[in-house]
Amino acid sequence: MQSPQSGWQSPTQVVAGERRLKVGTGTCSRRQFVASAMMAIGAAALGGARPAWSQRDALDPRTLRIAAETSGIDIHNHIDVPLTGAGMLGPDLDLKGEMQRAGLSAICMTFATDYQPGDAYGRFLNALAAMDHQLQHNGMKRSLTVADLAAARRNSQPTVIQAVEGAHFLEGHLERVEEAYGRGLRHLGLLHDSDATVPLGDVYTNVPRLGGLTAFGASVIQECNRLGILVDLAHANVQTTEMALKQSRRPVLISHTGLDTQPGSDARMAQMMRPRLIGKAQARMVADRGGAVGVWTRLSKTPLEYATNIRAMVDVIGVDHVCIGTDTKLIPAAPDHAAQQPPHVGDSTNGAWVNQRAGFYFLVVDAMLKTGFTSGEIEKIGRGNYLRIFGEAVG
Ligand SMILES: [Zn+2]
Repeated sequence: MQSPQSGWQSPTQVVAGERRLKVGTGTCSRRQFVASAMMAIGAAALGGARPAWSQRDALDPRTLRIAAETSGIDIHNHIDVPLTGAGMLGPDLDLKGEMQRAGLSAICMTFATDYQPGDAYGRFLNALAAMDHQLQHNGMKRSLTVADLAAARRNSQPTVIQAVEGAHFLEGHLERVEEAYGRGLRHLGLLHDSDATVPLGDVYTNVPRLGGLTAFGASVIQECNRLGILVDLAHANVQTTEMALKQSRRPVLISHTGLDTQPGSDARMAQMMRPRLIGKAQARMVADRGGAVGVWTRLSKTPLEYATNIRAMVDVIGVDHVCIGTDTKLIPAAPDHAAQQPPHVGDSTNGAWVNQRAGFYFLVVDAMLKTGFTSGEIEKIGRGNYLRIFGEAVG
């Protein structure tokens, strides 16, 4: 049964659909049933679109069912929108369709403003306006509370949590945190690759020069705690992380990274990404304060390698403190970007791996089952841990 609005099915709808097939097909063979069930669930997950691949080619019904039941959330997903006046509000994006293809029920929809000089605040406001437009175009809304996330799931409605990667837009203006909250921001990455004009803390890929978290960074964390914005310490070096954890009264995230014991098999990539991986001690200090670490898909050449990297993080900080934070783009680069920077494997959520034959979250669930995770553990990593922390930080 498809939701007339979205084509997306809630877990109970999918399970119910599977049961109906069992009853309705009577004497059909298991193989026929499996094919029918996959078709029904896969078509629902794909939102009626005609993809280049089909979930049923690659996955068994149990995987499809658990993926639907656990309603994955990607806690760090980039959506490319225009940041400057030229080309605003950008081409219409099929946000809902790509989420359905991916099998994700929600994403932390993020963007960064620090690749161009000057006026980070203007770019921030433009990006939010462009995202307003994309959400409206897709008939979607930002979830502002845990209750919103629950309602979206109940109504089979894909949703987003508004995030930003790097607080460059603040430019020393603390009152802009509340302004951003008013525009729907609920998940703030303090840092990104380059320092803000008024820096918040030392970035792990740069030479440390600030002594960790700055006084402004500390006041931003306090303001996030006061308002109800989840603080994300991705890109923070160890000292900044330690100081931020002392400052925050709420659990925090590192939304997208991997353990430095899991550099992958590509020596060149491993060397390049090494500064962006974290040690066990840094992961533990976040988990010990109730937070979580999102494992990204980078350095994982296959879904099984990705599940292995998740397992490595779970072995260090426990299953209650790990999430999925891909650092991919749900929508591949817009055509004007693509000319300069052709999309490559690993860049997009539904193209995270070579010869990908199914949507992202379906493959992750499949690989997690194959590496011994239970459906309960997949639910925690796929959704539950983020919801718990979001609830504690945002409400
Ligand atoms: Zn990042």
